[in-house]
Amino acid sequence: MNGKATTTKARLERGRSALGPALELVHTGRAHTRAVLTAELGVTRATAGAVAAELEALGLIRVDSRPAAVGSQGRPSHRLSVDDTGPVVLAAQVHADGFRAALVGLGGRTVATAPGCVTVSADPAQVLGEVVDAGAALLRESGRRCVGAGLAVPSAVAEPDGTALNPLHLAWPAGAPVRDIFAGQVRAAGIQGPAFTGNDVNLAALAEHRHGAGRGAQHLLCVATGHRGVGGALVLDGRLHTGSSGLALEVGHLTVNPQGRPCHCGSRGCLDVEADPLAFLTAAGRDPGPEVSLLQQSRQLLRTEYDDPAVRNAGEELIDRLGLGLAGLVNILNPDRIILGGLHRELLDADPERLRAVVADRSLWGRSGGVPILPCTLEHNSLVGAAELAWQPVLDDPLGALG
Ligand SMILES: [Zn+2]
Repeated sequence: MNGKATTTKARLERGRSALGPALELVHTGRAHTRAVLTAELGVTRATAGAVAAELEALGLIRVDSRPAAVGSQGRPSHRLSVDDTGPVVLAAQVHADGFRAALVGLGGRTVATAPGCVTVSADPAQVLGEVVDAGAALLRESGRRCVGAGLAVPSAVAEPDGTALNPLHLAWPAGAPVRDIFAGQVRAAGIQGPAFTGNDVNLAALAEHRHGAGRGAQHLLCVATGHRGVGGALVLDGRLHTGSSGLALEVGHLTVNPQGRPCHCGSRGCLDVEADPLAFLTAAGRDPGPEVSLLQQSRQLLRTEYDDPAVRNAGEELIDRLGLGLAGLVNILNPDRIILGGLHRELLDADPERLRAVVADRSLWGRSGGVPILPCTLEHNSLVGAAELAWQPVLDDPLGALG
């Protein structure tokens, strides 16, 4: 092989290996122009141009050459954005009050969504079949190409088996093989691409890190309620910390009230039963009605009736318990940011000073500098995170996954 051919081959390989990182930069909104892409990738302008053109040819991004943006050297630079007519993934979520299916494009953009309010069957195949059917209908309506599927469940998901180990708020049997069931139904529905399953709060944290309130954090702690129960997740340098077998950060079973209510896990006074929507409604003396989800009812109460003394007392009680749990986590994990989702986000909005003060008073590291505590910002962040799982093979190797 002569020198010129070697150089050309090396350039092509460098270009191909840059496709994934380049797509991730556009996907996460960190490269809006070709000039930024060039700087972030550390390649020549010619290579960055070729990489952007290749991603555009794959139907993943758009390159707009109209001179509007100004590059780092003061020259106009091509603008980059995700192609909003490009492929999508099917994202699915099962929670205590039903399910939601969605089509999600690059950039974490929800294209279409279909909620389903059902009594979740004790047979996981039943509700997973319904959510996959809802997703398949969305795909047919949209006519978009599907490149994979992701599912979020309110349970720790053991790796490498893909089993739901503790679906405490569903009647599913512990150890149900949810990943295999979901993947089988996705295939049976004729939906293209691989299928993945993860814990809902883990996926929410991943989505917030890439597209929401967690962007730029190095040690991101996420604590959130679902419709029932409490979960946690840690994103370290952009990767979910899931422990040796997928079961890390089971923060819902931290004891925050030793004399508190019995928990489904066998202990007592866990965050899971002391700081979730049902605990809040009970503390406020409200009968949880059957018509909408407990999370919706709690949110409504906190937003519209916080001057009612019973509601305020209940809110303060939950804020104090949540703060105690967060303080312990701050001491152990030393995060650089905490984000709160579900009911916890509403509690933060209702009285941010009280929550921050409890965390500061009760933790060593919280006291010294203060850890920023912020609300999650994405709507349906677990769904967006389920989509991230499905997008990951494309982000790793766009040409291999789509070519
Ligand atoms: Zn527990």
